[in-house]
Amino acid sequence: MKLRTWLTEAPHLGRALRLVWRAAPRLTAWWSLLLVVQALLPVLVVFLTKMLVDDVAGAVRGPGGWEQAQRPLLLAAALAGVLVLSEVLQAAARWLRAAQAEVVKDHLSAQVHEQALAVDLAYYESATYFDQLHLIRYDIYQRPVALMENVGSLLQNSITLVAMLVVLVRFGVWVPLALVVSTLPALWVVVRYAIRQHEWRVRTTADERRAFYYDWQMTSREHAEEVRLFHLGDLLQRRFADLRRRLRGERLQLARKEGLSGLAAGAGALAIAGGALAWMVWRTVRGSVTLGDLAMFYQAFSQGQRLLRSLLENVGQIYTNSLFLGNLFGFLALEAKVVSPPEPVAVPAKAGLAIRFRSVTFRYPSSDRPALRGFDLEIPAGRMVAVVGPNGAGKSTLVKLLCRFYDPQDGTIELDGVDLRRFRPEELRRLVTVLFQQPAHYSATLRENIALGDVSLPADYFPVASAARAAGADEAAARLKQGYDALLGTWFAGGTELSVGEWQRVALARAYFRNAPIVLLDEPTSAMDSWAENAWLDRFRTLVAGRTSLIISHRFTTAMRADVIHVMEEGRVIESGTHAELLARGGKYAASWHAQMRTPGSE
Ligand code: ATP
Repeated sequence: MKLRTWLTEAPHLGRALRLVWRAAPRLTAWWSLLLVVQALLPVLVVFLTKMLVDDVAGAVRGPGGWEQAQRPLLLAAALAGVLVLSEVLQAAARWLRAAQAEVVKDHLSAQVHEQALAVDLAYYESATYFDQLHLIRYDIYQRPVALMENVGSLLQNSITLVAMLVVLVRFGVWVPLALVVSTLPALWVVVRYAIRQHEWRVRTTADERRAFYYDWQMTSREHAEEVRLFHLGDLLQRRFADLRRRLRGERLQLARKEGLSGLAAGAGALAIAGGALAWMVWRTVRGSVTLGDLAMFYQAFSQGQRLLRSLLENVGQIYTNSLFLGNLFGFLALEAKVVSPPEPVAVPAKAGLAIRFRSVTFRYPSSDRPALRGFDLEIPAGRMVAVVGPNGAGKSTLVKLLCRFYDPQDGTIELDGVDLRRFRPEELRRLVTVLFQQPAHYSATLRENIALGDVSLPADYFPVASAARAAGADEAAARLKQGYDALLGTWFAGGTELSVGEWQRVALARAYFRNAPIVLLDEPTSAMDSWAENAWLDRFRTLVAGRTSLIISHRFTTAMRADVIHVMEEGRVIESGTHAELLARGGKYAASWHAQMRTPGSE
């Protein structure tokens, strides 16, 4: 299995190298050139050392004049020159690597962002997606460049090693062989632990993410109030510490075992090196080789061993890093299911659009219970329809299906008689504006918070202000010292936090800012005071006149103003009609209406 894994992971390497090349071609070309030059310099050093030692030995035996000293001095100068050059090249390579790292990081971030924006909403609801994204986020800034470095070192070390082996062959064919054999145990250690580490990493991703989750709960604004009130700090700290202790223990145990195995492998290699050196000393003493040869042998053998060890480490690291890249490429290869059809139909370009759900059955990918079953509903063109019903009835699901965040498993949803799946999703979404049940809060100015509803429009004052007025967000603007230019949220310095109701109005203004023919509002009045509700509804009716609108609400006082009200329960419509018709019918709607009207404090 292990060998197969090695082989199946190999293709990632080619793709990774292509990726780095595409992201930074010029830097990579320079860097490769430097690699080759840097690889050959150590061999030059070994040769110069041999020549220097032999010359010095010759000079020592001679009369000792300037004549004899000249050549060794020249050689020493050349040696120093090569060493300086190698330092300069190292610094240049470091700079090139840093530059390359930055470019590759940004290139990869752009790819990950593009994919995160393109995948279906369903991916955001699976733990696997977050595990995958967690690993990628954690690694994206180091792995590809580390991989490049590994490959670079591998190439450089291989070139130097081959040259060193050639140097060593002159002392006997068995010498390079002994060198290779002495590093075999280290190869075994490297491969074994690279695989183990990766397996451990994948196995513990969910735990790592859970630890991260506890950390986030203790440090995020969202949880700060409840953590204090319910005194959750100790509990969270304990859970975090327990998890970290276990993860740390496992990691250290692995590192300890790897260290011990590495030590045993290193001791074997040293013994072989000692034996080979003793043999060379014996030959030098007997006069069959020169002192220079001894120096060269020692340098070449010990460097060869070091190079082989780094080579093995490079291979191990390349392996681990390409396993990570498998993860990244897996993420980048995720395919969206909600896509354009091969021959898309142009979306209708008119104000009033009829919407129809025909026997729609829909189950969320992560659920085994359908949220809608054989669901039928008509929203006539230019009319305002309300949907009411208990929690979990499937009301918000209608909005998500209309935006085509998901496709139903059965039945069709039609816009002016055309199945939504026949349009391009992005064109369809441009026809729709939505106030979601939990709208996003942007840490940006109030103006931008509203203008984000339609990024194709300039965020000048008038459309923003009129959308704010229609949504009732103009009161918040009037209260803020900098008005529409006030920074909202607490992410950045100088931001102001709004109340839940104010945020909701801002989100509503954003929805209004987009002048779309279909308006979908999910609980628009849930955080609104009842005094404001009536005035707001008047404005809403004027605003959506001629447009098709759907309001989801728990408040009957909101729903009653719609042209038609549908009551939903367990994914089906169980009653429909105007407010008066439904009251007269005496069904669920009537019972809930009377209960809501009787409840003290309700509107
Ligand atoms: P509420 O009034 O509480 O907002 P709702 O009528 O809007 O409820 P929906 O959000 O449409 O209800 O949910 C319908 C059903 O689908 C519920 O049983 C819910 O558990 C399930 N559901 C909703 N969202 C998801 C999801 N992302 N993944 C899996 N199941 C979901």
